[in-house]
Amino acid sequence: MTRGQIANVDLIKQVNCAAVYRLIDSQGPISRVKIAELSHLAAASVTKITRTLIECGLIREMAHQASTGGRRAISLTTVTHAFHLVSVKLGREELQLCLYSLDGQVLARQIHDFPHQDRTALLDSLIAHISDFIDGQRRELTLVAIALTMPGLTDAVHGQVIYHPSFPLADVPLARLLKEALGLPVFIGNDVRTQALAEHYFGASRDCLDSVLISVRHGVGAGIITEGRIFRSLGRDVAEIGHIRVDALGDRCHCGNFGCLETMVADAALLKQAGRMLEQGFDSRLKNQPLTMANLCQAALDGDRLARDVLERAAEYLGQALAIMVNLFNPQKILLAGELCAADSLLFPLIGRAIAHQSLPSFHQDLPIVKAHFQDEQTIGGLALVKRALLEGELLQLIIESR
Ligand SMILES: [Zn+2]
Repeated sequence: MTRGQIANVDLIKQVNCAAVYRLIDSQGPISRVKIAELSHLAAASVTKITRTLIECGLIREMAHQASTGGRRAISLTTVTHAFHLVSVKLGREELQLCLYSLDGQVLARQIHDFPHQDRTALLDSLIAHISDFIDGQRRELTLVAIALTMPGLTDAVHGQVIYHPSFPLADVPLARLLKEALGLPVFIGNDVRTQALAEHYFGASRDCLDSVLISVRHGVGAGIITEGRIFRSLGRDVAEIGHIRVDALGDRCHCGNFGCLETMVADAALLKQAGRMLEQGFDSRLKNQPLTMANLCQAALDGDRLARDVLERAAEYLGQALAIMVNLFNPQKILLAGELCAADSLLFPLIGRAIAHQSLPSFHQDLPIVKAHFQDEQTIGGLALVKRALLEGELLQLIIESR
């Protein structure tokens, strides 16, 4: 055999192994016979693969009463609680670290201020924080990976950052550097895109394969899930919904253009609009309150005219941008994340109406708009990245080889 053929044999083994693991993950407890039937693999292959997975502690056998009665049948189920990962969110000004077990339980969490600094100091500090966090755990850990998510643009295939809004990380081979320093596989992704995947695995879009998540906070981002996967291009991010122009006369955006969705509906933009109207003398109960998203949303829900005006305009712009996504991707569900979801009962019907005016009827009919499940868990995207690496075989293979 040539080297290429040997590599192919390894790849086929990895693909088959991942297919078996995915079936056990999604349908377990499941019998070997059923796995062979659904995967179209030979019974002997299934036996061999499941033996390896059992030896690595990734799955286990369980006996249960067969539905037909009689002898107890043996089925297989995944073992996820025994494996751990560290999910790191490198935000604009802070660093969040979370220790998860693979079944999604949060075991420990830390938040640190993360000041602006030069590239070398930043990398040293990042590595030191993760390393201290791991060393500080007093439990027995079986760490399998580190995941790093962030705003901006990433290249998941090469493990690099393309653009981070706060830190000079462009073109740094971040996954490789962290792996060398910490001795674990490292997966990198954009925070909103990976949250969309987390919603698909564990949250509000578990029941469908195609969904769009839009997150409105400091910036405006989106994640598209098609057929259960993050829609992306050669590992690079797509769906920069925040930079769709919704108002040609709008404010200048940090990207250099004018009237981007982000400049019209991000939290700071909404609060600025409310502040401007207050200055102009519009009556509102917000005059006597701190200008926060929570107060703006509550005032709108209570019928405050100024607050309603601001949010109604935001809904129009959001609907305009989302209608483009609906026309392009025909999702089964739209998810919204961000503090403005506090006014969901007011906002969501308006967004739905705007989408209906600007997209194909058969695409927007019965299209639910719902709140994202993970509104405050900023590290959840990292858990999804690791889960994906396991289901698609890459991490599965590394765990098997390390045993
Ligand atoms: Zn822009």
